[in-house]
Amino acid sequence: MRTIYNGILDILFPGICACCCSPLAEGTHQICGYCIKNKFELTDKYLGIRDDDILPEYIAFRTSMWEFDQSGPIQQLMHKLKYEQVYGLGIDFGKELGKLLRTLLGMQGWLFCYQPFLIPVPLNTLRRRERGFNQSRAICEGIEQVTGWSTVPQRAFTRIKKTKTQTGLSSAERKNNLRGAFKANNLNILPYELPVIVDDVYTTGATTMELASTVKHIGAERIGIATVAEA
Ligand SMILES: [Zn+2]
Repeated sequence: MRTIYNGILDILFPGICACCCSPLAEGTHQICGYCIKNKFELTDKYLGIRDDDILPEYIAFRTSMWEFDQSGPIQQLMHKLKYEQVYGLGIDFGKELGKLLRTLLGMQGWLFCYQPFLIPVPLNTLRRRERGFNQSRAICEGIEQVTGWSTVPQRAFTRIKKTKTQTGLSSAERKNNLRGAFKANNLNILPYELPVIVDDVYTTGATTMELASTVKHIGAERIGIATVAEA
């Protein structure tokens, strides 16, 4: 009944693209196909090339899909996702990132021996309550839709340390600020599993790397990192 009702609503009031405001075709979420293909610039890291001198050995790959454009479409869309709670945007981002991950992991041979699963970077409870949801989890939902990989339950990782804002801190200070920020709860990682940490924007990597070290401590030998954008 709800689906029929939503279907009628779609005909009467078709959604518009969050990026260019043109009407959306049926079945799409928040961003039109044209914008997805043409508005964003791929990063030079989208194929997960390792920058070896920076990444620890246990990072299997790291990919960022699009360049974060200060005050351009990506920044505006990320703002809508986080602060206007447009959950469908996260799913759209996730679907694109999922297609990229499937290609990347296939090309690098990971899918022969490993079963990937997704870990969204957790927010602390207060921030999640304020925001209503975790944007990284919305991105994971989109990745799931195109890959069939699963996402860890919400309680699998918690943010246990209240961290000061990262703005204005040096890379070493960020690392220190985040040390011990995450806790794993009753999660076992099997030898054939490949955890992939998912976040919206990769800036200095301090947050994702801290979470990666927590994931390593519970038994992961190889960990992937995937973000929608790179600042
Ligand atoms: Zn558009």
